[in-house]
Amino acid sequence: MMKIDDNLELKPDGTVTCSHCGAEVGPDRHNPMAKAIRHERPSSVAEPGIRADPVFFTDRPIVIRQVSCSGCFTVLLTEIVPGDEPQHRHWQLSDA
Ligand SMILES: [Zn+2]
Repeated sequence: MMKIDDNLELKPDGTVTCSHCGAEVGPDRHNPMAKAIRHERPSSVAEPGIRADPVFFTDRPIVIRQVSCSGCFTVLLTEIVPGDEPQHRHWQLSDA
């Protein structure tokens, strides 16, 4: 087992699992969170400090995207991004 970060582990069989509950969140190192739950909402519903209406700063819609474990709902990734970006920013583990 290899610890990826505080929430994710790479198992000997190549799958990526949640380190809190053991649920598989990714089938392999190239898709480490492919099986996790994705959720998106407007940034204006966020906590104080980041919920200022983005219309004051940009013409693009700004959203909070979160990826959570499907087993225990621990948040694995949070990003605040333009909502018109088609995909989540993506990372994967190299083969080396
Ligand atoms: Zn979990």
